[in-house]
Amino acid sequence: MPHDHPGVQLLLLSGLAIYWLIPLSSWWMLRGDGNRNARLWFLGTGLYSLVATMFVFGKWLPPLMAAPLMASLGLLSVFMMLASLQREVPRVKAIPYRGYWAGAVLEYVLMSALYVGQVALPHMYALHLGLISLAEIALIVQANRVRQQHQSQAMWILIATFMAFALTNLVRVMELLLTGHFSSLLDFTVTSNASLIVNYLSVIFYCYGYWGFVVEKSRRQLVLATKETVQAQANERLALHREELSQDLLRERMKWMEQLTAIGKLAQSGALSATIAHEVNQPLAAIQLNIEESQRMAQDSQAPAPMQQLLKRIEHDNQRVAQIVQRVRWMFSGQPSPMQSQILDDLVQVVLQLHAQRLSREQVQLHLDLQAKRPFQFAPGEIEHVLMNLLDNALDALQSVPSQARHITLHTWCETNTLCLSVADNGPGIPEALRDSIFELLGTSKTTGMGVGLWLARYIAERHGGTLTLDEHNTTGARFVLRIPQRPLTDAPILRTKD
Ligand code: ADP
Repeated sequence: MPHDHPGVQLLLLSGLAIYWLIPLSSWWMLRGDGNRNARLWFLGTGLYSLVATMFVFGKWLPPLMAAPLMASLGLLSVFMMLASLQREVPRVKAIPYRGYWAGAVLEYVLMSALYVGQVALPHMYALHLGLISLAEIALIVQANRVRQQHQSQAMWILIATFMAFALTNLVRVMELLLTGHFSSLLDFTVTSNASLIVNYLSVIFYCYGYWGFVVEKSRRQLVLATKETVQAQANERLALHREELSQDLLRERMKWMEQLTAIGKLAQSGALSATIAHEVNQPLAAIQLNIEESQRMAQDSQAPAPMQQLLKRIEHDNQRVAQIVQRVRWMFSGQPSPMQSQILDDLVQVVLQLHAQRLSREQVQLHLDLQAKRPFQFAPGEIEHVLMNLLDNALDALQSVPSQARHITLHTWCETNTLCLSVADNGPGIPEALRDSIFELLGTSKTTGMGVGLWLARYIAERHGGTLTLDEHNTTGARFVLRIPQRPLTDAPILRTKD
């Protein structure tokens, strides 16, 4: 078939279109992907398309542009693919780009010189084919390294394609050197259509092979990234777990320290109170003796009645102080207390009488619901002290409420073997910051407060084998609930001698 036959022309042109389309569309698809090596590869293959185009239209090109330029551009395109593969294997030092440029320019100069001088043209072609075969062999070696490095199966396609190229070219060099001419099948002229078609097909292989490599590589990266993410998540979970453990340990330690501090405070304050009570006891006894002596003298000298009354009152007050001191000694000395029995509601009435003045002065409305008509056993003065403290706190809390709206509700009731009492007010409630520590020693929100009252009240309740709690479900103001067994159990601290 003559080479200018329209069928041949159509075949050449459509082949050329494929030659351009595959590398350039690949190059275009990879834009913005950050994969510089892949773009370099497809740029190199695109350059090869240019060489193929020049080959087809070679007869219209000026001679110097045709052979030497085509040869050096062909070499440069293989160099670009080689450079791209070299950069896929970090352990191999890549040849700098300018080395490749220099090689291509050198070939152009050499080929042009030979061409211009018309010296040994077949040898000029043999030289070019030899050079390009060497570049292709280097590319095969490099493709094999990439295959190993990235465990890429697709690289086999590139290796096979370039082996075919290198073999063809080497065979042609040998043939030329031996016979002085190319055989028509292997001759790259427009008429050797078969070799041209093979050449056209090769673009499909080396672009297809390279795409396979791109897919394999990104799949591996994805797998690696997923593994890393999973590992990172596992590490994060481990770190969180460790953090939680150390937080737990820290909390546990804080709790222990708080408990130790509380125990320390309790021991100190108990010991202090017992010591003071012990020390004060003797002067109090002396004062009592002096009062009695003064009373006797006042009677003997018939002192005026007001003075005698005054002495009586002093004696009365002194006896009260002595009783308080005695109670403190019982409370903290570790000795069992004497017990007394009284109906709870009666005891409430006694305490209310002591508070009657303050209640009316501060215009507090008292709501009584007394339903504990049973007697119970307690250390003298101690339960009264608890109730007085609860009432005092409620009255203090009501200071911030308008006087016409102040309410205190006192409720007593019986449960099996237990007597219960609650004191509720409609004040501002327990300050949030104190909620967890109001029963602790020295926990106070008052400028003049000491933070001893509730601690002591709970201490007394527990001494009797009972409880004193804050009602957590109460929504307005504060409500405290005291529960005391009707008769303290034998192991209640109040009945035990401390070691
Ligand atoms: P003090 O009265 O000396 O401060 P307490 O142990 O009796 O010591 O009370 C501790 C703290 O508990 C008080 O400072 C107060 O903040 C809070 N509190 C006790 N009772 C009430 C109440 N009824 N309403 C509001 N806060 C209260």
